[in-house]
Amino acid sequence: MPTKGRAAIFREAKKPLSIEEVEFPDPKYDEVLIRVKAVGVCHTDLATIDGEFPPPPLMPTVLGHEIAGEIHLVGEGVKDLKPGDRVVLSWLWHTCGKCRYCIKGDEQLCEHLVETGRHVYGGYAEYVLAKASHIISIPPNVPWEYAPAATDAIATPFKGLRIAGAKEGDVVVVWGVGALGFNAIQVAKAKGCMVIAVGRSEFKLQKAKEVGADVIINASKEDPVDTIKRVSGGADIVLQLVPTDVKTYEQAFYSLRRGGVLILLGYPPGKLCLPVIEWGLDEKKVIASLAFTRYDISESLRLIAQGKVKPIVTTYIGLENINRALSDLREGKVLGRPIILM
Ligand SMILES: [Zn+2]
Ligand SMILES: [Zn+2]
Repeated sequence: MPTKGRAAIFREAKKPLSIEEVEFPDPKYDEVLIRVKAVGVCHTDLATIDGEFPPPPLMPTVLGHEIAGEIHLVGEGVKDLKPGDRVVLSWLWHTCGKCRYCIKGDEQLCEHLVETGRHVYGGYAEYVLAKASHIISIPPNVPWEYAPAATDAIATPFKGLRIAGAKEGDVVVVWGVGALGFNAIQVAKAKGCMVIAVGRSEFKLQKAKEVGADVIINASKEDPVDTIKRVSGGADIVLQLVPTDVKTYEQAFYSLRRGGVLILLGYPPGKLCLPVIEWGLDEKKVIASLAFTRYDISESLRLIAQGKVKPIVTTYIGLENINRALSDLREGKVLGRPIILM
């Protein structure tokens, strides 16, 4: 018997999501049906709704890929989960586990990746289907409103720092003070790094200081490269999160010390122009980091449970507020991640 409930349906770009009564099918053999409790509202979804990103292959669809909820029904092959269990589901709806990328531990590059909210219905709904293999249990002391952050806004900078090899004493620059930036600062502090936050909004930079940044730099008032060099001698790692201005990626390169690592996490349109001789002689590394793996999600949940990361969120109660959350995000009015609490 299908389960009845509401979903915010994406039918057409540049239009509000349409909240409709729908039927959610029963889970198949290896699937579960999750009752959504909290879902993060992501810039990727906003860009899709605004027509800046190509429409999902599955149209109309339900967006939302930062999902926390309770198991409602389990498929007959699912033995290790039961109704009431608390779980998260991310963008990684399914990965094959067999291609060379999956085997290597880079499942975000899976050749057969099924994306939540693009190839299958996502979490802007009262229920969502998931593969039992790709959901992760939430530790008991993690509240609903924090859990979605682990599926993207913490896991993304966590993975960036992981592949950069961040260790105690490193100078980490977090460039960009949005939801990911606030989490990046806390993850880097948890690893014992010195953290410098770069942004352009004084209000957000003060928040960056509150969550642990040792130094804040307002790039609209001072030259970030000079200041980073002066206060630290140069960055061991820069996490570049800025989604709009490719020039800041060049500044990030110049703020690295010898052997430093620039991790590309925001992807602004445009091209980088970097000096090859300095690049080579100083052995600087420029590395892209796409999303995260399930390992990064599980570690992110652990950091929340240990109190080492407290995600900055703005909550909206009820699915009917999804369009308001999206427009607040569009207007830059939200501090941290907007979370819809069901
Ligand atoms: Zn997201
Ligand atoms: Zn694969």
